[in-house]
Amino acid sequence: MGHKINDQWKISTMCVHGSGGYDKSTGSVGKPIYQTSTFAFESARAGAEIFLGEREGYVYTRISNPTQEAFEKEMAFLEGGEAALAFGSGMAAISGVIMALCKNGDNVVSSDTLYGGSHQLFTETLPRWDITVKEVDGTNCKNIVKAIDEKTRLIYIETPANPTLTLIDIAECAKIAKKHGIPLVVDNTFSTPYFQQPLKLGADIVVHSATKYIGGHGDTVAGVVVGHKEFIDNLRMSILRDMGGIISPLNAWLLVRGLKTLAIRMERHQANALKVAKYLQFHPKVKSVFYPGLTTHPQHALAKKQMSGFGGMVSFEVKGGRKAGETLMNAVELITLAVSLGDVDSLIEHPGSMTHSTYAPEDLEAVGITEGLVRLSVGIEDAEDIINDLSQALAQIN
Ligand SMILES: *Cc1c(COP(=O)(O)O)cnc(C)c1O
Repeated sequence: MGHKINDQWKISTMCVHGSGGYDKSTGSVGKPIYQTSTFAFESARAGAEIFLGEREGYVYTRISNPTQEAFEKEMAFLEGGEAALAFGSGMAAISGVIMALCKNGDNVVSSDTLYGGSHQLFTETLPRWDITVKEVDGTNCKNIVKAIDEKTRLIYIETPANPTLTLIDIAECAKIAKKHGIPLVVDNTFSTPYFQQPLKLGADIVVHSATKYIGGHGDTVAGVVVGHKEFIDNLRMSILRDMGGIISPLNAWLLVRGLKTLAIRMERHQANALKVAKYLQFHPKVKSVFYPGLTTHPQHALAKKQMSGFGGMVSFEVKGGRKAGETLMNAVELITLAVSLGDVDSLIEHPGSMTHSTYAPEDLEAVGITEGLVRLSVGIEDAEDIINDLSQALAQIN
């Protein structure tokens, strides 16, 4: 009757059905938006029992809500995890995980090419609570091993990394984490579970900026964490409840709706990105192109090993550095000059002065974010139109 979830379903089926079947009380096929802050108790005793955890039930939307739960259930299925927890943004999810695992005096070992907001959290904000983050070049796992000490509480990696598309070997990092008895946390925003499932490669926790491909339409900001039930329950009842960085029911609903088309969107993003990357690769005004799906990507073999597809993000360096990049970004007509990524619309930006301006100038070059690097989130428009737009914009660089 359309309400049973079969965990043997393939991922594209799960994208459509993973949030659960129709609403039992009304028959509503669309997931209802439970736009409420509070929930009535059947009786005073029932309320007390729910508070004690002796009875299932909803209390207050900062703790749980059926629309949030539908999204969380689906993300857990898609990532192959036991449970998931939604947050109001990717940064709330990432900071929440670290706060749950660390106290003052502890440290984190992280890869060094990160979303600019994560880098800022790690180097500016967390140190205020005496939590230090050692950012190392994770493309060589030995650097991670070397940085671990008795106060290290987790390993954090972003792969493919924003914005350089460098990869880190998830299975290798998982082995290191296991050996040291600490969890491996993977930011899976760029790949989504459609192309990469870190938990199946041995990672313990996955985080996402659901703002990006999960929502997919550029209409909401959200985050999610997937992992073991015990960890997620604890995260909900400590960090989420006490820090309060929750997702709204409406935004959770937008993500459930977005996920329905994740599989076909990712296929199209990837097909377009590969065409764009191949086009740029041979363009006389382009110095280098970074896309894991290109055989020239230094980690193409690793990409094939740990990803089932290469995603929709392409970064490239134009000849003529920052000035040439600016000319290009000012000249695009179809593509929008804006940060964020993973939308159905193509978006272009300059990491060095925008998303990654949180890095000190000398650190930018060290992690591969050069002055001329441009990041392109390839949308689902017709590839030919995207390429034609790039072509006319590149022609304006002199
Ligand atoms: C955007 C992004 C984040 C932060 O997510 P928000 O939803 O903007 O808070 C974290 N990691 C990666 C890789 C991102 O691209």
